[in-house]
Amino acid sequence: MPDAEVFQFQAEIAQLMSLIINTFYSNKEIFLRELISNSSDALDKIRYESLTDPSKMESGKELFIKLIPNKEARTLTIIDTGIGMTKSDLVNNLGTIARSGTKAFMEALQAGADISMIGQFGVGFYSAYLVADKVVVHSKNNDDEQYVWESSAGGSFTITPDEGEPMGRGTKIILHIKEDQTEFLEEAKIKSIVTKHSQFIGYPIKLLVEKEREKEVSDDEAEPEEKKEEEEEKKEEGDEPKIEDVGDDEDEDKKDDKKKKKTVKVKYTEDEELNKTKPIWTRNSEDISQDEYGEFYKSLTNDWEDHLAVKHFSVEGQLEFRALLFVPRRVPFDLFEAKKRKNNIKLYVRRVFIMDNCEELIPDYLNFMKGVVDSEDLPLNISREMLQQNKILKVIRKNLVKKCMELFEELTEDKESYKKFYSQFSKNLKLGVHEDSTNRAKLADLLRFQTSASGDEMCSLGEYVGRMKESQKSIYFITGESKEQVSNSAFVERVKKRGFEVIYMTEPIDEYVIQQLKEYQGKQLVCVTKEGLELPEDEEEKKKREEDKAKFENLCKVMKSVLDNKVEKVIVSNRLVDSPCCIVTSQYGWSANMERIMKAQALRDTTTMGYMAGKKHLEGNPDHPIIETLRQKAEADKNDKAVKDLCILLYETSLLSSGFSLDEPQVHAVRIYRMIKLGLGIDEDEPMATEEPAAAAASDMPPLEDSEDASHMEEVD
Ligand code: ADP
Repeated sequence: MPDAEVFQFQAEIAQLMSLIINTFYSNKEIFLRELISNSSDALDKIRYESLTDPSKMESGKELFIKLIPNKEARTLTIIDTGIGMTKSDLVNNLGTIARSGTKAFMEALQAGADISMIGQFGVGFYSAYLVADKVVVHSKNNDDEQYVWESSAGGSFTITPDEGEPMGRGTKIILHIKEDQTEFLEEAKIKSIVTKHSQFIGYPIKLLVEKEREKEVSDDEAEPEEKKEEEEEKKEEGDEPKIEDVGDDEDEDKKDDKKKKKTVKVKYTEDEELNKTKPIWTRNSEDISQDEYGEFYKSLTNDWEDHLAVKHFSVEGQLEFRALLFVPRRVPFDLFEAKKRKNNIKLYVRRVFIMDNCEELIPDYLNFMKGVVDSEDLPLNISREMLQQNKILKVIRKNLVKKCMELFEELTEDKESYKKFYSQFSKNLKLGVHEDSTNRAKLADLLRFQTSASGDEMCSLGEYVGRMKESQKSIYFITGESKEQVSNSAFVERVKKRGFEVIYMTEPIDEYVIQQLKEYQGKQLVCVTKEGLELPEDEEEKKKREEDKAKFENLCKVMKSVLDNKVEKVIVSNRLVDSPCCIVTSQYGWSANMERIMKAQALRDTTTMGYMAGKKHLEGNPDHPIIETLRQKAEADKNDKAVKDLCILLYETSLLSSGFSLDEPQVHAVRIYRMIKLGLGIDEDEPMATEEPAAAAASDMPPLEDSEDASHMEEVD
């Protein structure tokens, strides 16, 4: 016996395993689905590798999965002729490399998730320990010798060179079934589990079944005859033609005719294929029940729930293919992780599986869609490199996107399911608006937002346009952190007061949407926080605006000189109602919200920050007493120090209320404290009660416990 190397399971995996072993959980049968699904993946991999290098198949041409129950030994063996694992694969994949899914799955379990969801988290292998107390994995990959992995849990596993029977290529998993789980060795049980969970696996799943048949034999020959029978069965399993055997039999029968006959029961074993159903996408959609689609979807995706919507279609003509597209009910836990997800759209060519996750088939923003595509036209030996150039694939992709749009459009007809869909995938649709100019208009139809008139519900841009006032030329929107923040913003004041509706865009990705979505149904989208917001005005209003402009010209000049390089322009506008002023950004620069988002992205290139941000305009409210009084003071003495101070204070405060952050909040705080002292009638130079300089500095900071007071102040504000 060669020496076994001992390895410790990565800590979280060990934790997961003991959780699987110790949690009371009745739906244990899912272990088989998980192991079969792993086998199917391994078969996919070798098939794919062999497309470009047929020699890889020399280690075994037949692709299948085989299940062998053995009641005497109390084992269930699962064999596949897939890609197999090298020694380092065994060490890494089955125990030592941490995966994001391990922790995520345990957290999900804590939050009430079900163990059957394990497959979605990429740790399905360990479900073997639901039914087995020891698992032995023999594996042979083309690039390495054959090895055995073995573990009875307990924190460690061993790896040993495999000196047993050579397997050619593939993996053999032997489950030593727990004493109280022997039902999983029953033929009927295994059959029913496979039919329930794995009927759509694309490779034959064979079950070794025990059979019995009656055979007429002559009295004295019963014993030897039985042996011969077994040998014949063995031959039958092979591919050899059996013509000669039949001939022998006939001869024997003739002899037997003369003797006295007796029937004996002969036991033999044979492979029974458990998943003979035709690929579901090749069938007529009218003959397929929703349940069948659901089962197929689940086996395709490892999801534990049915899909939300499905589209089954075929395209004929110059190009021929069939496809099945599913919308899941939820975002998978790692949808936006950088690592590419597998099992999005599976590509088949004339019923032969080619590859998982064919990126060329579907644009990034639709990466949540699941399904299969089966092409009649692509060559079987297509490689990833060829795919990028392939014209057929481009046409298929275009069609798939079109069908996705149709499917989403259909979903909107049922408000409740569309809500579900939108809550999960709105980011994807928005990414689509940004990326896919061809389908931008259709995607824009699918967007939903809260607005100043929609209450808690969300509405479409179409509904907004339907409600537009006759005098209203543009669609007004504001971007920001939350509905609370934007709905109370000074920018929305006047637009709302004029009776116009404002769309609240409160997801970071909305900023990207509006970069591309300049108009909808011929109406321009106008950001209420950007310069040049023009609300429709009558003659009187126009006249007043002209007058205001002249009246405040001087103040604007003074303010601009005080604020100098902080703002590009100071003007008065009709944008505000209750606030004295606000900061707007130039038409093409970043909004306050975008600046906030960009600052939050730690890794980005800081040079863009300068020229994209920067361009701020201060707009004063000519009807506000603060601005009016300031005007009078500036008129009296344009070098008044108090005016200068107040200008800066006004600027900084309106930065905050317009959603920007301050570069130097301490300096602003000092200014505010000075104002507070003024308000309280304290002399500017009044000494601190304590002489300690450190304590004095600390007292300038608001104490932490005061957060209640702080929020109280905000309310008063
Ligand atoms: P997942 O299959 O979702 O990645 P698992 O925990 O089920 O997670 O399996 C871990 C890894 O072990 C797989 O990604 C694969 O690399 C490897 N593996 C498991 N079963 C097999 C098998 N039958 N043949 C080849 N590799 C396998």
